[in-house]
Amino acid sequence: MTVASLDGTCPNCGGLTPRIFHSIAGVPVNSCLLFNDRQRARDLECGNIDLAFCSDCNFIYNAQWKPEQTTYSEQYEETQQFSETFANYQREQVQELLDRYSIFGKEIVEIGCGKGEFLSLLCELGSNRGVGYDPSFVPARKGADHSGAEFKREFFTAETKQRAPHLVCCKMTLEHISQTRAFVGAIRRIASPERGTIVCIQVPDVRRILAEAAFWDVYYEHCSYFSPLSLQHVLRHAGFDILRTATSFGDQYLTIEARAVQPDSRSLDAALEAQTQNLAGAVAAYDDAVSRSVARWSHLVRSTAASGGRTVLWGSGSKAVAFLAAVKAEAEIEYLVDVNPYRWGKFVPGSGKQIMPPEFLSQYQPDLVIAMNPIYAQEISAALRDVGCRKAILHCLEGESLKSSTGGHTERGLYSTTSAI
Ligand SMILES: [Zn+2]
Repeated sequence: MTVASLDGTCPNCGGLTPRIFHSIAGVPVNSCLLFNDRQRARDLECGNIDLAFCSDCNFIYNAQWKPEQTTYSEQYEETQQFSETFANYQREQVQELLDRYSIFGKEIVEIGCGKGEFLSLLCELGSNRGVGYDPSFVPARKGADHSGAEFKREFFTAETKQRAPHLVCCKMTLEHISQTRAFVGAIRRIASPERGTIVCIQVPDVRRILAEAAFWDVYYEHCSYFSPLSLQHVLRHAGFDILRTATSFGDQYLTIEARAVQPDSRSLDAALEAQTQNLAGAVAAYDDAVSRSVARWSHLVRSTAASGGRTVLWGSGSKAVAFLAAVKAEAEIEYLVDVNPYRWGKFVPGSGKQIMPPEFLSQYQPDLVIAMNPIYAQEISAALRDVGCRKAILHCLEGESLKSSTGGHTERGLYSTTSAI
């Protein structure tokens, strides 16, 4: 385990004692940018990751992160909407959120709205008016959207002028922000206690990343990693009352809903303090667990190649970029597969591997398919059958800790799906 003290203070709580516990050198600074040219994809700048843990608020962050090294533009392709599994999940989330807080005929702001699918649904299903902020929004992709939502291709900042809405959503965005305390403060400035503004924040749950030693979920674009305690801490400090804390999407996502109130200084309750200890233990074990996990996956890919087999990754986003950077399977993996047509034919940062449509596999006939997210296992199995991939073994990126909960090795039609190797 790497332990080093830091000069800086915790960007989430101002605490003075963050410690570095895991380091990764030379990773692509961006993992969702796509390139038309292999060499340009390989030439993308690299950065370093020093994961630091603040024991005061449970926050984890990359102490080496530099804001000038990130780019969010039209080239940034992050949507998961082309997966039926994800589209269904998103629709359920929207309906539950609207029902829980009676958001009908009201005003909504989404910060980091991506290509706008979530905000459009919030507006359509609740007859709401919406404003979305994201520099990577692409007007041409709006297509048949009739929600009336307005999209601003700009970052939301402390200077943004915006009338207080009834609901603020900030989904899969705060993990890209380094100064989280200041950013949540900026959200609070457009929230109104009088209007009862609800804020809904969703981020990856770092508890699962630590428990699974999920090295594929740690990458440069994500400079901030939250557990319930650190997210609740920053929201309370800014002047929100926590209404609900939940995990979803196979415990991968952490969602907190809160209401704007006048700032108070309530102490954290005992249940939350207990989680601090748990996370400190997981933090201490993470470095060694990652080494073992990387070695296991390297062995699987190399032994497949040694016996003449072909391996492809299913999924070409940040997890795939992080996986390839860690496992270093330059010679053993040639292609990535994705269901998002905007990714086909493009090259991913770092390894410069090419992204192909699922149909490509009918001629390529891989022996091993590694799914970047276990939640898509059934969808991927069905797609492999559809394209006539008769001999492929499907493995999903999951940690050892999930072995018992999923029953380990299971057979699904022609394909054996294992939760761990
Ligand atoms: Zn802190």
